[in-house]
Amino acid sequence: MFKLIDGKAHSAALRAQIKERACAFKAANGNDVGLAVVLVGNDPASQVYVRNKIKGCEEAGIKSFAYYLPGDAAQEEVEELVCSLTENGDIHGILVQLPLPKHLDADKILKLIPKGKDVDGFCEENIGNLCLNRDCLVACTPNGVMQMLKREGIEIKGKRAVVIGRSNIVGKPMAMLLLNADATVTVCHSKTQNLAKICAEADVLVAAIGKAKFVTADMVKDGAVVIDVGMNRDADGKLCGDVDFESVKGKCSYITPVPGGVGPMTITMLLYNTVTAAERSVRI
Ligand code: NAP
Repeated sequence: MFKLIDGKAHSAALRAQIKERACAFKAANGNDVGLAVVLVGNDPASQVYVRNKIKGCEEAGIKSFAYYLPGDAAQEEVEELVCSLTENGDIHGILVQLPLPKHLDADKILKLIPKGKDVDGFCEENIGNLCLNRDCLVACTPNGVMQMLKREGIEIKGKRAVVIGRSNIVGKPMAMLLLNADATVTVCHSKTQNLAKICAEADVLVAAIGKAKFVTADMVKDGAVVIDVGMNRDADGKLCGDVDFESVKGKCSYITPVPGGVGPMTITMLLYNTVTAAERSVRI
């Protein structure tokens, strides 16, 4: 019998703690925890993500500062805005919504965000510190996965973990977090040979591929913990993950659904990182 990992419930519990911390920060320092969100252009998916992040802030007692630039904004204009945010004491976290329009140099813009305000955990210093297993702001989606595993009481130490996907924002930090938690980690990607066999050895299997229902029952060990990061549309346009939930659920001990699994944790971890950044800013 498998257990469904309820991302919404974990998320709600964590958001209550985040709200308490944001209130305590305000009481101690006189100002709100502040998050700046920069959106360039009008990509519909990005607009939805930004709206949800702002709503999440409101509910958690975090003040949001939204900056909307036109899709043809010049590199200098975006850089100037980000630089001004780095110097603004009311802003503890800066998030530049990706993807940026193609004419912009995203790397150059992201590099302007100092590690202490890098609430996405994407900057080189935060990624370096994660690799060195030092305290840092960690990418939200993989950190959300770790939180769910911890809250479910799932032991990681000594376990075989397999991560499918090696993106800089999900796969790689996910693998590093599992390694830091003492798992024995294998990372698979599009060039991996014998992928199904490797996956079937995993005690903890994380799918971050971006291919609907890619992970099937034959790729899952009996009793494995299956974490589905994917967010895809199936042939009928319905939201689904990278895991073929119906075929896999009978084999695993735990599984995250899509929707309602990893997804809700991502914005929660953004709020978590923002309040953490604020607390650290006054400790320096
Ligand atoms: P990405 O940058 O496109 O990376 C996908 C990874 O999957 C790559 O490393 C790729 O390998 C690997 N891959 C692709 N096809 C494969 C195959 N046939 N066999 C093995 N590996 C394969 O995607 P991402 O940004 O990491 O996101 C992955 C998924 O998670 C997407 O569905 C995305 O929407 C979802 N996501 C969800 C959340 C959330 O909040 N729930 C957040 C972020 C992302 P190569 O490196 O060899 O190309």
